[in-house]
Amino acid sequence: MPDNLPQLPAMDDIKDLLRFELEEGRIWMGEERMVLLRSSELRALRRELIDSLGMERAKGLLIRMGYIAGQLDADTAKRLRPDAPLFDVFSVGPQSHMLTGQVKVIPVKLDIDEEANSFHGIFEWQNSFEAEIFLAEYGVSYEPVCWTQIGYASGFTSRFVGRPILFREQGCVGCGEKRCRIEGRPSEEWEDGEELSSYYRPVRIADQLFALQSQVSLLRENLTTEQSFGDLVGCSQKFLQVRQLLAKAAESRVTVLLLGETGVGKDMFAKALHKGSPRHDKPFVAVNCAAIPRDLIEAELFGVEKGAFTGADQSRPGRFERAHGGTLFLDEVGELSPQAQAALLRVLQESEMERVGDTRTRKVDVRLVAATNENLEEAVQQGRFRADLLYRLNVYSVLVPPLRERIDDVPDLVRHFIDKYSSLHGKQVQGITDRAMAMLRAYQWPGNIRELGNMIERGIILADQGGQIEAQHLFPHVGEHPGPPQESGQVGESGGTFTGAAEQLLDEGCDLASLERALIEGAMQRSGGNVTRAASLLGLTRATLDYRLKKLRSG
Ligand SMILES: [Zn+2]
Repeated sequence: MPDNLPQLPAMDDIKDLLRFELEEGRIWMGEERMVLLRSSELRALRRELIDSLGMERAKGLLIRMGYIAGQLDADTAKRLRPDAPLFDVFSVGPQSHMLTGQVKVIPVKLDIDEEANSFHGIFEWQNSFEAEIFLAEYGVSYEPVCWTQIGYASGFTSRFVGRPILFREQGCVGCGEKRCRIEGRPSEEWEDGEELSSYYRPVRIADQLFALQSQVSLLRENLTTEQSFGDLVGCSQKFLQVRQLLAKAAESRVTVLLLGETGVGKDMFAKALHKGSPRHDKPFVAVNCAAIPRDLIEAELFGVEKGAFTGADQSRPGRFERAHGGTLFLDEVGELSPQAQAALLRVLQESEMERVGDTRTRKVDVRLVAATNENLEEAVQQGRFRADLLYRLNVYSVLVPPLRERIDDVPDLVRHFIDKYSSLHGKQVQGITDRAMAMLRAYQWPGNIRELGNMIERGIILADQGGQIEAQHLFPHVGEHPGPPQESGQVGESGGTFTGAAEQLLDEGCDLASLERALIEGAMQRSGGNVTRAASLLGLTRATLDYRLKKLRSG
């Protein structure tokens, strides 16, 4: 101990604060009621805290516990030694720590400058009870363990000098050292002051638990969705939105109408909806209404009684009865005959039906998923579709986006189809070249996912065993300047005609401005954002493309 630092003053005045009211079952220290605890009790408490809250939370809690005690003792100090030198008044803190049997304190340095409002203190601790119980419970620690004590030092000093002073242990018996050594400074003087002071802010553990609980239930929900919708492939925002909508619908019996272009995989979405529903272990029956002759569709859906019409030489159930308890998927529902529409409406309204040529009414429990790529409202206006049936089908409609609006799903889908077709054709490939992938991403996909599947199947067949699928396997017209083929019309071998492509674009309502935009964006995408390369793809100079890009981006 340096010579210039005085010894701790006599402790008699503090000791006199301690009073035992043995008859009353009370102990006092000055104004405060005290309790004598065994250190083994505190050891058990600390273990429970650490086990249930984790080391960091337990540490924070114990630090704050000590902090409160320290603050109270700072008030006592000024009352107890009002006229004493500053060092002696301050010593009430360390001496209370000693009186309560927690630790022996040896002052090493104490600079309190009330004028300059500065503080620096260093103390040595011996016989720390906290280090002792920690060692007994857990063995040597990586970091200091005298948490309530350090909290006490900070609380006492902060209250004493009237500004936040944080103590930290620079060495600790809990870490295997000979003695604990603590140092205190104003919090802003510590480099990691923010982290240190975070232990002094109470944490609403209950709030955190609630937040965690809701996170868990969300994750669990997603997990179920993940499992039951596992057949659907994709990660794009649009795809995930659709999947979320279907997952919600799956829980109930609501009739779902899937809208979207041909080839977007409405049948896969319908199947996924069934698998994710409580009916997943009952039948899933799919009917493509466009594939069945119109005059037979009613019989196909609702069944036939023997003798109902010529050729009906025996009774048989229809698709509705076969789907009983499960899900019936009606694709191209706009193709239904008027009679079939009427019968369908009745099933939806009353859950009952009759076989063709039968008088007996049968109850059916079927969840209906319908799909169409047609504008049914238009069909209603043209008198081809019943308005009341549309109203019934349209309760929960979901638009499945075209593949060009979920281009980010292309890589996942490509992997999915490679797996599927390589096992189907018994051929292993290494995947797909970067150039081929870039072209797939730049392509507009008029035939949607069905077209992608066909293309990958063709690629698997054409690729070498153990090789990669190359651009030319997918786009047979790829030449020196690669470009995906158009859906119709033979595109430019040399000076070829774009008539077919133009027809199709006009059919799709594409105007010159959006064509220009699409061409420029396509070229930029294919060139990886390299304007010079994109310009050469488009047959423009770099300056011209620059100009047009600026115009596009500002417009
Ligand atoms: Zn320690």
